[in-house]
Amino acid sequence: MNTLKNLSRRQWLQRVGGTTLAGTVLLSVPSFARAAQPNVVVIGGGFGGATAARYIKRRYPQADVTLIEPSKHYYTCPFSNLYLAGLREFDELGHGFEDLKAQGIHVIHDLATVVDADKKQVQVSTGQALSYDKLLLAPGVDIKWNALEGYDEAASLLAPHAWKAGPQTQLLKEQLEAMPDGGVFLMVAPENPFRCPPGPYERASMVAHYLKHNKPKSKILILDAKDNFSKQGLFQQGWEQHYGDMIEWVPYSQDGKVIRVDAGKRQVETEFSEIHQADVLNVIPPQKAGAIAAAAGVTDASGWVPVHTDTFESKLVPDIYVVGDATIASPMPKSGFSANAQAKVAAAAIVNSLLDQPTAEPYFANTCYSLIAPEHGISVANAYALENQKLIETSGGVSPIDGDATFRQLEAEYGSAWYQAISEDIWNSPLAKVK
Ligand code: FAD
Repeated sequence: MNTLKNLSRRQWLQRVGGTTLAGTVLLSVPSFARAAQPNVVVIGGGFGGATAARYIKRRYPQADVTLIEPSKHYYTCPFSNLYLAGLREFDELGHGFEDLKAQGIHVIHDLATVVDADKKQVQVSTGQALSYDKLLLAPGVDIKWNALEGYDEAASLLAPHAWKAGPQTQLLKEQLEAMPDGGVFLMVAPENPFRCPPGPYERASMVAHYLKHNKPKSKILILDAKDNFSKQGLFQQGWEQHYGDMIEWVPYSQDGKVIRVDAGKRQVETEFSEIHQADVLNVIPPQKAGAIAAAAGVTDASGWVPVHTDTFESKLVPDIYVVGDATIASPMPKSGFSANAQAKVAAAAIVNSLLDQPTAEPYFANTCYSLIAPEHGISVANAYALENQKLIETSGGVSPIDGDATFRQLEAEYGSAWYQAISEDIWNSPLAKVK
């Protein structure tokens, strides 16, 4: 893999700027290209959906854009680990939809329950039906209940996953605060693919930060269904530096794979029948595309959504576009940044298609910052493009392993700046302002 060092700033901007370039094609389109006012419906107001709604409306103001999202405030998973550490307030993770409404986007706070691709209609839980010319789905992930024996929705109230930000995140924090000093925080980490590959390991870091300052005799045990993980060398280096032997990581090959959960007893069992006892049990279970994707008929046997990666239109159902965690878009990770980048490409493709314009060539970028300690940030960054209709990594890399304290501190600051910038780009809600 290329490192960031190998990539000149100009090359980087050329790549990253590609998504904007796609927009340039649109701006040259005459406004009389289509007389009728097309209907675009977007399901999901998270990183992917809210971005798509905003950029479709921005590129094609005459289009009627409706965003369906049940929550009045969307709480981000990014920075939810910092909330567990006591470094952010819960409210700072929440974003409202006022600014999207101010752009002329209709926002319906409801759950989409039916997609009728033949009639090109979406129905919400109240029974209201909406017709669409183009539909974009960004429903994120759903938990595959019982894929881990014993881990169903009721079990998640005792052993929270906290892999969707909200009450689950608050429950995990309450449990952490109630844990005795000397207790074991046990995390079950899933196989690939799953939402946010570095997320479990940032969570372990942030829990360790909390424990170090509040319950220093405690331990963190990560039982992992994988043999390696994102930014592994950097995480393990940081763990040793800040937390000594507080964090123990057990890979798949050393019996790390959990196959059974007893949430009532806070116990898990591994493949080779070892039972582990936890004081706080955080199970990050296998996942699949949000349920509305299957209801729309766009998922395949894997439970995820195959898409044409030049447009993010479904490979199975025309005029339905899908972005974000729900999609199969490897090598792009399932991240908020990826969802945002994919949504801009899909927005451009939708508008081009509505205006009978050719599809623009897309480029994508993703950066994932993780915090190991308040002044110790690390990152992975990649640029992506299409080669023979296949999404490939064109450049990128991780933070240097020999980065000094100043470098790590700067990356922690860049992480905060990233959060503020992407929040403003998507929701631009007053809650997004970092205190
Ligand atoms: P989501 O953001 O989950 O949005 C989906 C939305 O769709 C939800 O609001 C939901 O209510 C709505 N929805 C679902 N079904 C329906 C329906 N039927 N009708 C109407 N609405 C519906 N990513 C990063 O880039 N950087 C990070 O630092 C980072 N940190 C993370 C830390 C943790 C602990 C976790 C768990 C994840 C992290 N991520 C991070 C990943 C990021 O949260 C996801 O990749 C991102 O949220 C995906 O965006 P999305 O739009 O696909 O889904």
